[in-house]
Amino acid sequence: MQHTFPLDAWCIRETSFDAASNFLDETLFALGNGYIGLRGTPEEGYAGSAGTSLDGTYLNGFYESEPIQYPENAYGLARNNQFMLNVPNAKGIALWLGEERFNLLQGSVESYERRLDFRTGLLERELVWQAPSGRRVALRSRRLVSFASKHLFAIEFTVTPLGFDGTLRFDCSVDGVVRNQEAGDDPRVGSATSGPALALVGNELAPHFAALQQRTHNSGFTLVSAAAQVLDAPHTLTQATERDGLRLVQSYRVAAQAGQAVRLVKYGCYYSSRDYAEDELMARARAELEAARGAGFDALAAQQAAYLADFWAQADVEVAGDDALQQGIRFNQFHLLQSVGRDGKTNISAKGVTGEGYEGHYFWDTEIYIFPFFLYNKPEIARKLLEYRYAGLPAARERARQMSHAKGALYPWRTIAGEECSAYFPAGTAQYHINADVAYSIKQYMDATGDDAYLLQYGAEILLETARIWLGIGSYNRAGDFVINEVTGPDEYTALVNNNYYTNAMARMHLQFAAAVGERIAREHPLEWARIAAAVALADGELEEFRHAAAAMLLPYDEVLGIHPQDDSFLDKKVWDFAGTPDDKYPLLLNYHPLVIYRHQVCKQADVVLALLLLGEQFTLEDKKRDFDYYEAVTTHDSSLSSCIFSIIASEVGYADKAYDYFMETARLDLDDTHGNTHYGVHTAAMAGTWLGVAYGFGGMRVVNGEVRFAPTLPKQWQHYQFRIHLHGSLLQVRVSAGGAQYTLLRGEGLSFRHRGEAVALSPAEPTKELA
Ligand code: BGC
Repeated sequence: MQHTFPLDAWCIRETSFDAASNFLDETLFALGNGYIGLRGTPEEGYAGSAGTSLDGTYLNGFYESEPIQYPENAYGLARNNQFMLNVPNAKGIALWLGEERFNLLQGSVESYERRLDFRTGLLERELVWQAPSGRRVALRSRRLVSFASKHLFAIEFTVTPLGFDGTLRFDCSVDGVVRNQEAGDDPRVGSATSGPALALVGNELAPHFAALQQRTHNSGFTLVSAAAQVLDAPHTLTQATERDGLRLVQSYRVAAQAGQAVRLVKYGCYYSSRDYAEDELMARARAELEAARGAGFDALAAQQAAYLADFWAQADVEVAGDDALQQGIRFNQFHLLQSVGRDGKTNISAKGVTGEGYEGHYFWDTEIYIFPFFLYNKPEIARKLLEYRYAGLPAARERARQMSHAKGALYPWRTIAGEECSAYFPAGTAQYHINADVAYSIKQYMDATGDDAYLLQYGAEILLETARIWLGIGSYNRAGDFVINEVTGPDEYTALVNNNYYTNAMARMHLQFAAAVGERIAREHPLEWARIAAAVALADGELEEFRHAAAAMLLPYDEVLGIHPQDDSFLDKKVWDFAGTPDDKYPLLLNYHPLVIYRHQVCKQADVVLALLLLGEQFTLEDKKRDFDYYEAVTTHDSSLSSCIFSIIASEVGYADKAYDYFMETARLDLDDTHGNTHYGVHTAAMAGTWLGVAYGFGGMRVVNGEVRFAPTLPKQWQHYQFRIHLHGSLLQVRVSAGGAQYTLLRGEGLSFRHRGEAVALSPAEPTKELA
């Protein structure tokens, strides 16, 4: 399903209502603040046919867990699944004109506009509807999920009767009769619960205030979902408790007059025991809603706009010459901001808080794709993402023990709260590279911030514990090489292999970095080092072991082809019959048994090619070109994480057209629903991949040994482009046009970097430099 939006630079907007795109639109028009996620379903609900809507409400990190059922069990398999719950829908406002219920699928829609604005953060609707009886009303709604207050959302709902006087009724509900969607055959969709996941503990209904208190069965969390209304016209209020106490309805009746607007504001909030003590939740919800009612919708909207003005001042990417692209880039940045957890307890899931795809799980997507976006645009959020991994260290240690590692910590392939949730270990637990990916993000963070306080408090412990796992799973072969067997690399169309290139290369980086960090802290902060070494029970000689394994790491190279084999057996496999595979057999994962895929040379996504980016200084340009050519020919890009990486390397090796084409595939992936599954949620890694494509791809940005380098190129389709990065407390703007690159210090005391090898320094006295 595709939806064509006018090419506005700062919003997505539709000017007619189309039921056929409803499911998709619910994702695209979703609002979130990194905690609450409200799909774009209208306040009055959506009464279309089954399978055309998922009126979901999600809270990042709020999950239920259930045992994973394995018909054939094995030792050490992941035991429990955690999945993000569809929580009570507190945004409902059913509108009645006398006895007729407002419903866009009946009567006629005379005019309609819905827009999601990236600068105001508001989802707005303006429409005129004629009921089957002929009565007409104008409706204007504005919705926000507050960036300023994690627990709060608000809706302004204004109705004007056109040409009639009569009763308007607003049924405001807090509806706990919700459940997660059913799982189908597609592994990328969510899982179904075996029953309603939230048991009712109690409810409260007071004038203008309604709240449900519920508890999950297994994860043991309590949740309060509450709403409060303000209606500025004389009204009567009746209240009802329905569906065994699970649905609370407050009905406001107003004697409305033709042409006179009636404005209702509904405030909603969620508080859970993941954040606060259970007995405080109700009082906190009440206080939050009281404060919101006191502030009013306009004040919340002003706060929202101010937050976003600050965000865009730091993060905006401008591209002149391609409106579709400009819209796609900002849409992606906006959704990333809406999706990311920023409390140190939550992270960013593969679909953000927009849908149930991948069950709200966090993957390596964070560290390798999304982390750099926040690191360079909102570093305080990047730090929170790192803190999340520290909070998961105890679970990672426990997982390592389950996996028979006497020492160290193994991060889960997919999780919410830290426990491994991957039921299919060949493309889950076997992706040990997750440990190196976490280490890589710490390295990037240190390169961009020099935040030693972080390293001493959290980072060093993670690095040491996770590095140990390489010594646990690797060994020295007869030739003395350090080899890592039976792992899966990023490419999920090749599983359980020996010496996956990406894994070995990243493990080497990890071991070297952990050793270097340990040695430096021991030198510069001996007291802290004693504490850290004691915390991980570091034995004498462990850092040397890291160094030794890194130095001996097997990094295969095929002399004949002049490429890096993806693993020991990859080049010996038969190449997939691409010519004989019809288009409708893609993605392959939905059409072939995994074993069939594994037996072939075929890649779902960048693997070696990703190593060329992350560890770029270790390869010659000729190597990169040959690797790119080879792997491009065998890669399906069935994963949305693939095209952006190919775009970046294409830029680097001089394939400008390919760089542009791959970039375009990423930039509007969700807006144009090119993977056909955006209705289950946005693809946050690909969204961040768009930013990587601009900065790392066209901007040629790399960080090597702490030094930032740019080598910008301008796609011929564009007049100019511009992005910004935070570095060591300064904010740098990079603008590239046909005339060359302009670097401007926007904030901070100054910084230095390289432009095509040449050293450049900016300072407040000399804030701008233009270079060819
Ligand atoms: C990709 C993984 C990714 C996951 C979640 C899969 O299709 O192959 O690399 O982590 O999606 O986005």
